[in-house]
Amino acid sequence: MQKQHSVVAGVDMGATHIRFCLQTATGETLHCEKQRTAEVIAPGVVAGIAQMISEQIARYEARCRGLVMGFPALVGKDNRTIISTPNLPLQPEEVHDLAGKLEDALGCPVAFSRDVNLQLSYDVVENHLTQQQVLAAYLGTGMGFAVWMNGAPWTGAHGVAGELGHIPQGDMTQTCACGNPGCLETVCSGLALKRWYEQQPRDFALDALFIHAGEAPFVQALLESAARAIATSINLFDPDAVILGGGVMDMQAFPREQLITLIQKYLRRPLPYQAVRFIAASSSAFNGAQGAATLARCRFLSSR
Ligand SMILES: [Zn+2]
Repeated sequence: MQKQHSVVAGVDMGATHIRFCLQTATGETLHCEKQRTAEVIAPGVVAGIAQMISEQIARYEARCRGLVMGFPALVGKDNRTIISTPNLPLQPEEVHDLAGKLEDALGCPVAFSRDVNLQLSYDVVENHLTQQQVLAAYLGTGMGFAVWMNGAPWTGAHGVAGELGHIPQGDMTQTCACGNPGCLETVCSGLALKRWYEQQPRDFALDALFIHAGEAPFVQALLESAARAIATSINLFDPDAVILGGGVMDMQAFPREQLITLIQKYLRRPLPYQAVRFIAASSSAFNGAQGAATLARCRFLSSR
């Protein structure tokens, strides 16, 4: 009988899209795909994810040795418990013991991670920053933020550190998707931008917003909010480098230099102002899924 080769799976589950990668034991990427989240989870999240992975495993006649899956969610220190998913269309009963149900369906171990930590791991390795102190701000659907400290993502006492999007520096008249009043994400996120865009008819597409409405007061206020929050984190952590990325920063004509200048205005002099470096995140949409697969390889295949 032919011996099946071992592969690991990485899944990055966003509100809109699910991205999925398969890697071999030596780190070669076998397969990458992107699907709409709503379509994948239509038969139920466990059945949908298991089917997506099993199809490819069968196609490559491989054996899946582990899955790491990232969510835009709080994930517990045990790497299994999803604590809160304000930005995902999942019901509490679907989330309950999701790791265990996926393990039963796939027949391999499963670990969860907060999606920004997967992206952070990818960017830190890509930029050779593993020995440095690094912060990352990913302005996408929400305001993602992650901390790299002592060679790994820093996740706090309970696994939930780094929620910069949920500091109370937003619109106090609004309730955030997380349930708290006035989080930063109410004024500084892709969702907030979309809400503003949809307030009235516009003669430009949403993804051309920075070309046509970069000077609009709401957009300028969003940049100011982002700058104050990121500067606060830099003054608190004194990092070597700050990675800036995310779907909103990847939009055409996003004023990256203006954002950096605004951030620098609020940095403590002379340090960290003089020393901190700003680095653009590489914007391939598969970084999170690749980071997940790499983590799965380290976690489930390293001793074999
Ligand atoms: Zn919040």
